[in-house]
Amino acid sequence: MLAATEPRTPTQLDAARRVLKQYYGYDQFRPMQQDIIQSILAGQDTVVLMPTGGGKSVCFQVPAMVQDGVCVVVSPLIALMKDQVEALKANGISAACINSSIGQAEQSSIARACHAGLLKLLYVSPEKLLSQGFLSFLQRLQVSMFAIDEAHCISSWGHDFRPEYTQLRVLREQFPQVPIIALTATADRLTQRDIQQQLRLTEPKVFLSSFDRPNLSLSVRPGQDRVNAVVNFLKTHENEAGIVYCLSRKQCETLAGKLKEKGIRAGFYHAGMTDKARSDVQEQFLRDDLQVICATVAFGMGIDKSNVRWVVHYNLPKNIEGYYQEIGRAGRDGAPAEAVLFYSYADVAQLRDMITKDADPRLAQLNTTKLERMQQFAEAASCRRRILLAYFGEVLDKDCGNCDICRNPPVTFDGTELAQKALSAVARTREAAPLTLICDVLLGRRNQAVISRGYDQIKTFGAGANLSFLDWQSYLHQLLNDGLLYIAYEQGYALKLTDLGWQVLKGERKQNLKQFQVPQKAEKAPKGRAAKAATGTGQRLVSVTDDLFDRLRQLRKKIADEQGVPPYVVFSDTTLQEMAIERPRTRTAMLAVSGVGMKKFETYGERFIELINQHAGAPSPDDVPDLPGEDDTPAAAPKKRAAPGSTYVDSWKLHRQGLSVEQIAEQRGLSPSTVKSHLETLYEKGYQLRTEEFLSQDDFARIRDAAHELGPDFRLRDLFDHLRERYDYFQLRVALTYDKRLRGELPNQPPAE
Ligand code: ADP
Ligand code: ZN
Repeated sequence: MLAATEPRTPTQLDAARRVLKQYYGYDQFRPMQQDIIQSILAGQDTVVLMPTGGGKSVCFQVPAMVQDGVCVVVSPLIALMKDQVEALKANGISAACINSSIGQAEQSSIARACHAGLLKLLYVSPEKLLSQGFLSFLQRLQVSMFAIDEAHCISSWGHDFRPEYTQLRVLREQFPQVPIIALTATADRLTQRDIQQQLRLTEPKVFLSSFDRPNLSLSVRPGQDRVNAVVNFLKTHENEAGIVYCLSRKQCETLAGKLKEKGIRAGFYHAGMTDKARSDVQEQFLRDDLQVICATVAFGMGIDKSNVRWVVHYNLPKNIEGYYQEIGRAGRDGAPAEAVLFYSYADVAQLRDMITKDADPRLAQLNTTKLERMQQFAEAASCRRRILLAYFGEVLDKDCGNCDICRNPPVTFDGTELAQKALSAVARTREAAPLTLICDVLLGRRNQAVISRGYDQIKTFGAGANLSFLDWQSYLHQLLNDGLLYIAYEQGYALKLTDLGWQVLKGERKQNLKQFQVPQKAEKAPKGRAAKAATGTGQRLVSVTDDLFDRLRQLRKKIADEQGVPPYVVFSDTTLQEMAIERPRTRTAMLAVSGVGMKKFETYGERFIELINQHAGAPSPDDVPDLPGEDDTPAAAPKKRAAPGSTYVDSWKLHRQGLSVEQIAEQRGLSPSTVKSHLETLYEKGYQLRTEEFLSQDDFARIRDAAHELGPDFRLRDLFDHLRERYDYFQLRVALTYDKRLRGELPNQPPAE
């Protein structure tokens, strides 16, 4: 049996690669994709377990293109179907969907297209698939395979159980020859077994990929002053779409209101709104018209938006499953994305109250345990990603380098004395005070709660006034985690000493503590090694504050609006980033960018090239005036090309006066990367730079050698990698331009006019 399929596979795999390049614009399959596609092309039943953003769709879409007939995709959510079909069409692949929202006339025309063999992919809802006559309609077609998306819906154990899914077993009965591909982002064993059994899969090949999402940076911040914390966070994420998950409906609305007051395009979403209001908000978010959604966990299911750049948890989630699913909505395109969790003890108390109210004591117990795991994650002093993955049964063999703990490892010190102060405060309040009140006592705060209980009279009152509230909170959490204290939930969350705690208090044991370095400023995207660790998909990171990137993004939005599709359907953020690095100015160069397939190139490639040309200063009177003036006091701009474009030259003048890039940025209120883009652009046009500020002679030589080794047509990204990220893109461009000027390929004088 194998013999018949074996010789066929290599050529089909080649064909699959060509499809990937031509339609999707990608150079290669991700490691597991290739194996999966081979399995599918060999006619095997296949189960794919891969995290969100892992690239499941390509796994069945590409084989569908290579094989004769139509691939029938079963998908549970109408919105998702619509998105996928739109994305396929944008890539030039013929696809359609049939569900309850599609009118009769359109259904007939889709059916005709199917019969004529014009459709490669047909998306259907399970209800439609199982409805009267539909299966016999399919019988009359050549079906290449069935792809069951979100296959975990079949399992009654899972969180998205859909009874219709259990009837999908009829597919095997009625189409015994057609292979079935089941795909899901849920990995647990029970679900996996259910999928295989219920779909009656015959010896399926199972592909279980790592559930790590290395491009997601993780951090936890203290839950004080959250509104301002969010506002500050957004200052470093201008124009980047994201979701703030809140605990209550009220909170969603309030927070969205406050953000709007600050001029941020924010909306809210929760189950208490009308369907219409909800779908409007969702649509605005998809189209990048809203930057921020403040939502309850009701938001996110069935959202395919690939350029969500961050997720903030305004409150502690109830469990790690939910948390992981919610942060998973960020960075689906593989570009760097951030997950920030605000943690406060008050949230734990509130959640615990909610959970323990459950009538079923077993459920209450289970959920309490889950909450405790969540809390441990939030209070962790070691790599957060390891903790997360361990929760899902996956072992990471080293720290991730892309979480707050890895970036700012806490310092361990002998904390016996501090611990004794805290433990003594607990003892002297007769083990009746909750955590925040103990902090107040240690800090010597004379507030209502303290005075009314007479705590201002005890010996430890104010004993820790030299530290901050956050410090004490953190130390008390550590004492709880290390088992020196426990919480009597039934007694108003009072802190109590354990035996171990008494021992430390009496000086019989030592206690280490960890000092966390809470970053005051928003953390920057990881650089260098951490970034490398963060890009499991092999994609390179660039600073998304680049001027060109912003302009590419604006163009994308404009085109998306013209075509009535969400911006990420036009190009993903990763594709725009690569354009910003490589600056393709020819058809060939543009088609070499990952994510630019033939169809997309034909539809809007030229417009992006035009923009990049403009940016490079070619035909752009608006941005780059052709100024004469090579000396230190350049001549004034020619009158016919006055003010608006002088911004490049203004940066350059300051540079010539000896200011550093940072100083220029500061003085002009621009980002350093914008200043750099001004300088490198003018350098290409013949203006003189003080290159020694950026590169030594050795650097020039090293870059020249590396470029030589790469041969003629290398990408800037390859050079960047080849030099092991030693130089940034600006330095590389300057060095390359320097050589081109030497060779006479670029001017050595600014254009005279
Ligand atoms: P999933 O369905 O598993 O959540 P998607 O199929 O939506 O993931 O893929 C996630 C992102 O990765 C998409 O932007 C997709 O275009 C991109 N992608 C998929 N395969 C590749 C590949 N081989 N090379 C580059 N990008 C890819
Ligand atoms: Zn880590």
